[in-house]
Amino acid sequence: MTKVEIGSFEFDLGPVREELDRLQVEKILLQLPDGLKTKIEKFAEMFDQDVVVWGNSCYGACDLPEDIGCADVLLQIGHSEIPYLEPSYPIIYLEGRCRLWKDLPPELLKKLEGKVALYAPVQHIHQLERAAENIEAAGLTPVIGEGDERIKYPGQILGCNYSVKREDVDHHLYIGTGRFHPLGLSFSLGKDVFIYNPVAQNIGSITEEERDDFLRKRYGAIAQVEKAEKVMVIISTKIGQIRRSSVEELLELGEKAGKTMMLMRFGEIRPEFIDQFRWDCAVNTACPRIALDDYENFKTTMLTPREFKIGLDINEGGDWKMDEIC
Ligand code: SF4
Repeated sequence: MTKVEIGSFEFDLGPVREELDRLQVEKILLQLPDGLKTKIEKFAEMFDQDVVVWGNSCYGACDLPEDIGCADVLLQIGHSEIPYLEPSYPIIYLEGRCRLWKDLPPELLKKLEGKVALYAPVQHIHQLERAAENIEAAGLTPVIGEGDERIKYPGQILGCNYSVKREDVDHHLYIGTGRFHPLGLSFSLGKDVFIYNPVAQNIGSITEEERDDFLRKRYGAIAQVEKAEKVMVIISTKIGQIRRSSVEELLELGEKAGKTMMLMRFGEIRPEFIDQFRWDCAVNTACPRIALDDYENFKTTMLTPREFKIGLDINEGGDWKMDEIC
C-alpha cells in the first residue's frame, strides 16, 4: 500500500520511494510545513533511509534551503515543485491531497452561468476534476487555465502567482480554504471570485467591497513612503523567493528621492528581525504575503515593490496591482 492518510490529507508514497531508490539515497533532509510538524514521527517512519529534520520554516516550494548539509536529497512534504527552480541539490516532493470532498452545493451552482474558470492550491488540485463534473452536470462549461513556469498544474494558484487566470469566462470559482488566495486572484483578475471550501463545505465570495477595504489599508501604508527617511529593501535567502532584478532599481529610485536606502538579506522575515532596525519602511521583494497578509504584525511599514513606486509617485501603468512572482 503506497497511499497514506495523515489528518485530512492523503500522500502517495509510491513515486517518492521509487525516486529515493533511483537516487540511491541514504540520508534524507525532511522538510515539512508548520501545520504538519506535529506529525513528524509518522512521516519519518515512512522511509527506510536515515532522516534529518529541517527545523526552520517551509512556507511553500519556494522555501528551499541554500544547502542540505550532509543529506543526499531534500524531501519536501505538502507542496508541489516550482518547475523553473534549479537548486544545486536533488529534491523530491511528497504532495498532499485533501481527502474531504462534497459535491458543489446547488445554491452555488445556481449563482453560476456560462463558462466557469476553476482554480485551486495544490492540496485541492485533484478536486478541480470533480468540480468540473458538477459544473458540466449543471449545464455549464468548466474552464481550467495553464500557468507559467512557476506553476506545475493547470488551474493551480500560488499566493504569488495567478498566471492560470482566464479572462474569457463568465465566472471564477476557487476551490480551497483560506481567503488570501481567492483575494489575490480577485485582484489579479479585477473581478469577483466565488469560493467553495470543501473542508468546511461552505460557499463564499470575494467582492469589490472586500477589495476596496483591502486597498484602503494598502494605500494607508503607501502614504508612509513620502515621509519615510530610511527604507530597507529586503531580499530573501530562500531560493524560490529571490527577485534580484527588482532590487537595484528600488535602491536607485529611493536614493533619487532622497531616502537612505539599504539592501538587507533575510532568511526569516519576521517582526522581531525587521523591527529591531527601527527603519521607517521595508520594501519586500520576497514572498508577497509578508507585505500583504502579515503586515499588521510588523511595526515597520511593509510594502511591495510596486507599492513603494506608487509611494514615490512613479506611475508604471496605473494603480495598485497584486504582487506576483513570475
Ligand atoms: S506565496 Fe509565498 S510562500 Fe507561497 S509559493 Fe509564493 S513566495 Fe512561496
